[in-house]
Amino acid sequence: MQNHEYDVVIVGAGPGGSGTALHLKDSGLKIALLDKHKFPRDKTCGDGISGKSSTILKELGLFDKIFELPHGPGYGVWMSGPNGVDLIVDSRQENPNAKPHGAVIRRYDFDNFLFNNAKQMPNVDAFEQYTVFDLIKEENNYVGVLAKDKDGNTHEFRAKIIIGADGAGSVVASKLGVAIRDPDHYVSAVRAYYDGVEGMREVIEIHFVEQALPGYFWIFPLEGKKANVGIGMLDRDMRKNKVNLAQLMENLIMQHPKFKDRFANAKRLTNIVGWTLPLGSKRRKPYFNHVLLVGDAAALIDPLTGEGIGNALLSSKLAAITIKEAFQKNDFSENTLKMYDQLLKKHLDPELQTMYRIQRLGSVKWLLNHFFNRVNSKRELRELITSTIVSEDTLKYKKKLTDPIFLIKNLFL
Ligand SMILES: Cc1cc2nc3c(=O)[nH]c(=O)nc-3n(C[C@H](O)[C@H](O)[C@H](O)COP(=O)(O)OP(=O)(O)OC[C@H]3O[C@@H](n4cnc5c(N)ncnc54)[C@H](O)[C@@H]3O)c2cc1C
Repeated sequence: MQNHEYDVVIVGAGPGGSGTALHLKDSGLKIALLDKHKFPRDKTCGDGISGKSSTILKELGLFDKIFELPHGPGYGVWMSGPNGVDLIVDSRQENPNAKPHGAVIRRYDFDNFLFNNAKQMPNVDAFEQYTVFDLIKEENNYVGVLAKDKDGNTHEFRAKIIIGADGAGSVVASKLGVAIRDPDHYVSAVRAYYDGVEGMREVIEIHFVEQALPGYFWIFPLEGKKANVGIGMLDRDMRKNKVNLAQLMENLIMQHPKFKDRFANAKRLTNIVGWTLPLGSKRRKPYFNHVLLVGDAAALIDPLTGEGIGNALLSSKLAAITIKEAFQKNDFSENTLKMYDQLLKKHLDPELQTMYRIQRLGSVKWLLNHFFNRVNSKRELRELITSTIVSEDTLKYKKKLTDPIFLIKNLFL
């Protein structure tokens, strides 16, 4: 057994883990960043880097650099309802010189970029191909983790604070007893890369097809005619209707009147692969004596859009604030670390709750169809949707979308 001693041990080097390290840049804390994979590595995802991710990347001084990676620029969203009616929000309609406010970047490249930036920091030691399999508990405190390296050797990493950033299948959350898979608050999704997709417009495409409501089929454009294509659905509905997601996706591509011509000459470049999304509509307790959970390990994914990168980055920022406070006080107990939960309550819960309410409304097919029928003729509604997508303060507008008076006025009067 080899022993390592750090101030902070971060389990998982995705956006949540690398983000936490990046936010601790000038902290002077000695950090171990562990991941079971060797980077670059793939992560099943839609690869959509949203406005929220962009905001945090700007704060970290990394936003402009992401456009040096292979990418498709993101100028907005193309949505359609179960009735096939389209709504296209493209920031270039208002301003032809608008810059992209997001991008589609393969996680193979994006995560490698974040990880390399974290790894280069003098206070970070990166350990690739180290798989964490247990927490070390002494009395009531978690004082470290046990990991196996690629040769099967066991290592003990001790630290004042452990960050569980190990994603949807988090070992850390599971050892803490909070990784409960509730089918009402979990989504399953599949995706594959295609080339030769016609009619893309440098905006992400979210199509609410009847078979997946309130989930959706997506086409997220990469370079040229390449795209990340996938579909996601609530576990509860998938089980109830015995849906095979990969089959459903292929059927939509081959048979759906809206997509079949666009995919007529397209070629699938990869296998169809799937993974799970723990939704923030039921987030977990994220703080324990000496431990914080960030990103998917804390179940922070947007319940409507399935976006989790932005919330993983945001939670990494809030975790870093909490870590600095704990080191200042030299107190790593739950009592101090609950500050992290308070920050999540303030900065994330209102949005998660609003998006959950919209998700519930979106599961009602006639209402969603009615929304798409009205949205193109009701200027106020259209402007509101645009603002929820392109503005800096999207929450203000998202909240309005669940305001009954606004909805009645715009949908029924
Ligand atoms: C099909 C699909 C489509 C999606 N599309 C989008 C999208 O377009 N936009 C968006 O914003 N979000 C999307 N999401 C959600 C997004 O992928 C996640 O929310 C995001 O990856 C969370 O980041 P994270 O750092 O918390 O976890 P992850 O990105 O999963 O990173 C966890 C890291 O921990 C490592 N790890 C795991 N276990 C261990 C262990 N035991 N020991 C050591 N290391 C370990 C893993 O190797 C990995 O590197 C999608 C998810 C799915 C499944």
